[in-house]
Amino acid sequence: MDQQRREPFYVAGSGCGARVSGFGGPPGRCTGGATYAGVVMFATEQKQMLWLAFACAEHADQLDAPRRMLPRDEAARDERHRNEQAARSGRPYTRPQPLALGRDARELHAKALRWAAAHAEAAEGLIP
Ligand SMILES: [Zn+2]
Repeated sequence: MDQQRREPFYVAGSGCGARVSGFGGPPGRCTGGATYAGVVMFATEQKQMLWLAFACAEHADQLDAPRRMLPRDEAARDERHRNEQAARSGRPYTRPQPLALGRDARELHAKALRWAAAHAEAAEGLIP
């Protein structure tokens, strides 16, 4: 699927989804703790998917409409973490799902961007 993104970003995890280059090794996921939540859109002509995604402070700018985590974001992150642990140990788990698909995804993404624009001053104070 084509991505409208500058950099690859893993959207479905409980930690920061940014990719970072290792010390001489292959690129891996950032190990920074997730303290910001935002949305990431994957879109083609036919299909759009909007994900809730998490990032550390350093990579918050890779999210659309980033904000410091709210309690509901922390709950979503904690649930993903429980599912990741369950998957690793072979227990039943629930695969993370996009926030919205298709037209709903486009509308929610636009709403998030409007929110971010309206709160740009506050965000500048939060994101280093
Ligand atoms: Zn990060």
